[in-house]
Amino acid sequence: MTSDNIIAEAAAGAIAQSADEGTLDKVVVNNDEFTMTRLRSHLMDSSVDADEHTIVFSMIDGTTSKVLKHKLAEVLRKRAPSGGPAFWVPGMPGNPPEPIVGTIKCLLHKEHGDREWLNSIGLSAQECRKANLRSEFDLQSHMLHRHQQEFSLIETAREREAQEEQREWTRMQMDAMRQTQSASTRRKKE
Ligand SMILES: [Zn+2]
Repeated sequence: MTSDNIIAEAAAGAIAQSADEGTLDKVVVNNDEFTMTRLRSHLMDSSVDADEHTIVFSMIDGTTSKVLKHKLAEVLRKRAPSGGPAFWVPGMPGNPPEPIVGTIKCLLHKEHGDREWLNSIGLSAQECRKANLRSEFDLQSHMLHRHQQEFSLIETAREREAQEEQREWTRMQMDAMRQTQSASTRRKKE
């Protein structure tokens, strides 16, 4: 166990204990001062059961998760790919990481750029308000998990349109070739 881990564990223990007691405003671990203020404000959140859970912040994307207090030390020992701690917990030095807010809309969002096209393939009644997806991968998995049937319809329609485009392009090529041929035939006759 590295000294970082020991500190994290000690902090987690001290924080959990003082939160239970509801007495201490500050705990000191290895000369680092861990303030209780943020912890308190999070525990005010009614979605968090203060006796059982605390909130941790992902250092990777700032998302929050509810963690059972007796699991907290274990969670705080996790490392991010950079080698630093993977989670920040209220009470640790510094501030919570800024959440990375995604801006990618679900394909079925009513303001999605493809809305008209979606309506045209029969999805006018299907709407989803999800608009904070963070990557193409997130979008893909959201579509697969939440809108499996709609997604398969979308994929099929996309494939069909791609094939039609391909056929149309081939037809234009053929037309162009025919025109060139008949032009050269005419020239030979002249
Ligand atoms: Zn959606």
